[in-house]
Amino acid sequence: MKTIANGLILKGIDLSPVKENIVIDDENNIIEISKDAKEGEVIDASGKIVCPRFINAHTHIGDSIIKDEGDGLSLDEVVKPPHGIKHLALESASDDELIEAMRDSMWDMHNLGISHFIDYREGGLEGVKLIKEASKDIPITPIILGRDSSFYGEDPNYHQVKVAIRKLLKHADGIGLSGFGEIDTTVAEIICEKCEAAGKISSIHVAESENNQFASIEKTGKTEPQRAFEAGFNQVVHMANPKNDDINQLSKSNSSLTICPRSNGALSVGIIPLFEVLKTGVKPLIGSDNIMINRPNLFREMEFTLKIMKGFSKNYIAPVEVLKMATTNVCVDSSLSSKINKSYVGEGQNAEFMIINQKSNNPYLSLINRTEVNDIVKIF
Ligand SMILES: [Zn+2]
Repeated sequence: MKTIANGLILKGIDLSPVKENIVIDDENNIIEISKDAKEGEVIDASGKIVCPRFINAHTHIGDSIIKDEGDGLSLDEVVKPPHGIKHLALESASDDELIEAMRDSMWDMHNLGISHFIDYREGGLEGVKLIKEASKDIPITPIILGRDSSFYGEDPNYHQVKVAIRKLLKHADGIGLSGFGEIDTTVAEIICEKCEAAGKISSIHVAESENNQFASIEKTGKTEPQRAFEAGFNQVVHMANPKNDDINQLSKSNSSLTICPRSNGALSVGIIPLFEVLKTGVKPLIGSDNIMINRPNLFREMEFTLKIMKGFSKNYIAPVEVLKMATTNVCVDSSLSSKINKSYVGEGQNAEFMIINQKSNNPYLSLINRTEVNDIVKIF
């Protein structure tokens, strides 16, 4: 038994700040949260915030091998398969190099308070096996979305596509696709259907650039998000350039949205109108995207997001809503919560939180504006 005493807890799904004590049993479950509970070893958290650990909802940790390369190139030149510089680098790297680079990034995420991350893993089935090998003894939960080269092209072999999906889903948590520019609608539908049947996650980049949107509308008469909602993807990533009725359709769809504002800024592709998205009741997740572009640090992502979105919309966005994107939104997200086992600070939940120095009276802004990695004093 352990008691975390006297801290300011961000409790429940709403992250309500309360001064209470948390009792944890020997199996790492939270068995009581109340003002006077005290059992076993007492850890004093006076002057500290107790915050749920983070989920980084979109990464590509394979490209940890080429950090900060490709600056100034276009989105396609950097990340489009198969000729983007990222894919050329991944192909020429040895397994050992990749494993070492991915391990460094996973330890970095752990030390930055991240308990879960959703990774788009390149390299087919072998790529999925590599990240599993790399993550073996690291206290972090990777949610691995694989892909296969048979998915691409104008005239895909649907039988081969189905075989590849079956093999991938035996080892991965789902499938993550670079975008509709590389695959056709039938492949997308097969992937969504097979993932749903297996209880796994289907995910795709959408509307990352305006050009992608124009190309999709020209080819099919539909925007990329519209095609993703119709196919039934569980997760859409980016939507930096919504068109037509995309935002409204998102709020009516079964798809979860993950935004990556620093990545969109770095690649000069756009800024999602987050204020408009939040107004519809959508509860997005947040991700740091390619490690070649960003350190997977969600404190930095949250600060950038809060300020750029307020400046862009000329409207107020509550800091707690941004903190929820990195913590508890995934717990209430109907398309992902059953597939991702993430805890919040509440009785009956796993102890999956961190104790952080409090730097101001506003706990949300203290975390978003002022917290550095050395302010995290203990990780559970
Ligand atoms: Zn991405």
